[in-house]
Formats: sequence, C-alpha cells, structure tokens
Amino acid sequence: MQFSIADVACAAARALPGGWGVKRGDWGVSATLFSGSRSFRLYVDEHGDLCLDYERPADERLPEVMPRGVGVYHGGSFFEAARPGEGLHALSGKIASAVESAVTGTLVEIPKPTTPMALANAHAEHGPALSYPITGRLSCHSAGHHTPAAATHMVSYLGLTLPACDNHRAHAVDAARELHDLS
Ligand SMILES: [Zn+2]
Repeated sequence: MQFSIADVACAAARALPGGWGVKRGDWGVSATLFSGSRSFRLYVDEHGDLCLDYERPADERLPEVMPRGVGVYHGGSFFEAARPGEGLHALSGKIASAVESAVTGTLVEIPKPTTPMALANAHAEHGPALSYPITGRLSCHSAGHHTPAAATHMVSYLGLTLPACDNHRAHAVDAARELHDLS
C-alpha cells in the first residue's frame, strides 16, 4: 500500500464541500475527519474492513440511506469489500460520499406540505431527503410487492417525489436521488 489511512482521510476531506479537517490518530492506523460538531473516525477493524465511526450531534439521527456498498452499524458505517488496491482516489471518493450522506442524507419526517414552495422551504431547512405522510390512493413505487401495496408516505429528494410503503422509504430515497441526478 502506497498510502496511509490519513492520506485517504485527507483526500476525502478535500473532496467534501465545506471546511473539513483531518487529525491523524496514534500509530497512524486511524484518522478523524471533523467539521463543526461532527466527526468521523476512519480505521481498519479486526476483520480488515475499512470502517467509519460517526460522532454526531445529539439531535441528529443515524442516516437511513447510504451509498451503495456502504453498510451501516450502530454508530457508524463500513465499506463492503473496500481494499487498498482500489487506490487512493477511489477509496477517498467512497469515504467522502458516505460522510456526505451521513451529514445530509438523513430522511427527515415533515408534515405534509401544502404547496411546492412549502416543500422547497422544508428541503432548505432539513436537507435533501424528506418524507411526509399521505393517505389515499397511491401505491408504493417498489416492484417488490406481489400485489400493489398502499403507500403511507411520499418521499422527496430535493422535490422529486415517490410514494412508498413503510418498508420502502429508504429505497425510495435512493430511487428519487437517482432520478433527480438524471434530470
Ligand atoms: Zn413498498
């Protein structure tokens, strides 16, 4: 390996919007990315998995939605099948997107907005992924139902909305984000 954990953390910090700093851990086997009240400790666990522990403000929930290949455990996330051979650029990109998702990708529940402007304002206040309860005729967007299932929520990723049942809200954010990024 031609680079250290701290090198990966520094490259990820540079890729993130806003000011992120990096502190090297003792022995060079971990590094902490920090910004404001949030910090993420990057290290390799006893199974050889690259892990990212998340210290977050008390009022902030754990992210429900992470990029593909990122698993979530209590207090953090890990990178499935990440290996040093992928290179510094690929690894730091994965870490930057996981940090960004953890900071901004939390699905926040809001009351049903009455106008598009109210929804836009809610996004400005709470972040890119919102959900609000709906009643009535819409079916869950997921193809995972054998027969159509009633949607209980509308999930909005920056205004692009999909109806979802309780089980498919996280998936709806993923799908809405992909649609949003294409549009
Ligand atoms: Zn569903």
